[in-house]
Amino acid sequence: MELLADKHLQYVEQLDKSKDDLQYWLTSHLRMNGLYWALNTTFLLQKPDLIDKEKIIDFVLSCYDESSGGFSADTGLDPHLLYTLSALQILYLEDSLDRLPDRNKTINFVKELHQPDGGFSGDKYGETDARFVYNAIQSLLILNALDEVDMTNTCTWLQQCQNYDGGFGFMPGEESHGAMAFTVVGALKILGKLDLIDSDRAATWLSDRQTDSGGLNGRPEKLPDVCYSWWVLSGLAVLNKVDWIDKQKLSNFILQAQDPDKGGIADRPDNEVDIFHTVFGLAGLSLLGHPGLAQVDPIVCLPSSISAKLYKDNKLTLK
Ligand code: ZN
Repeated sequence: MELLADKHLQYVEQLDKSKDDLQYWLTSHLRMNGLYWALNTTFLLQKPDLIDKEKIIDFVLSCYDESSGGFSADTGLDPHLLYTLSALQILYLEDSLDRLPDRNKTINFVKELHQPDGGFSGDKYGETDARFVYNAIQSLLILNALDEVDMTNTCTWLQQCQNYDGGFGFMPGEESHGAMAFTVVGALKILGKLDLIDSDRAATWLSDRQTDSGGLNGRPEKLPDVCYSWWVLSGLAVLNKVDWIDKQKLSNFILQAQDPDKGGIADRPDNEVDIFHTVFGLAGLSLLGHPGLAQVDPIVCLPSSISAKLYKDNKLTLK
């Protein structure tokens, strides 16, 4: 099957128009992430102006929490690191970081979630895991404030997420899960400490995620799922080991999960599409070098043209 780029753009446009649908309101708890996924989809498909820029920025700013400096998933909800990173990614993609109401306050929001053991919690109510550590590190990268937090024990915390099997858990001592490759490997790469993990062992566990269908799974014995074409493959890409999987078979698996009528990509062929699997399916295809897509950066999940500017702002040489 071919890449149905025009159909996917139509799918994003239709999502943007269907705000009165019940489906839209049911996803309030994910709306900021959803907007980042939709916007990143348009960038990957090289139509970055598809959604109205001012409308996007108005929504993002409506989710800003003045007392903490963080962002929530939707207007009136509590701020959280997951949505703060998405908000910052959106502002950065739209070249509008100067619209951030108070940069120092947002930096403090992230800093205050740093835990004594090196982890980060997602909000003031606790719960630490590798996703939030990643959220904090990329947020500080976008805010050009990585040097404002001592990451020494965070690097150790991330290193301890790697298990003997080579994979990475949600936190030290937890079972390996494919989704944590992006967060642990990406975070250590940003911090310049990728040498703390055993790369060959990691790449072995990650490449073992490829199933007979060509798709990747998140754990042994589980069904393949298009989103691991991002979570797992990005880890392999940062480790320069994408060739450890059969790229053609994975491309075919992702392309077969497209909906040829309404556009969008599902978790696996013949299932219902959603914007989450659409963006990560396209990002996976981009890592595989599929024609017709902007090149994606495996460390930050932004177009490489945008991440190049981000690294330059931070005086980082990651590539
Ligand atoms: Zn999935």
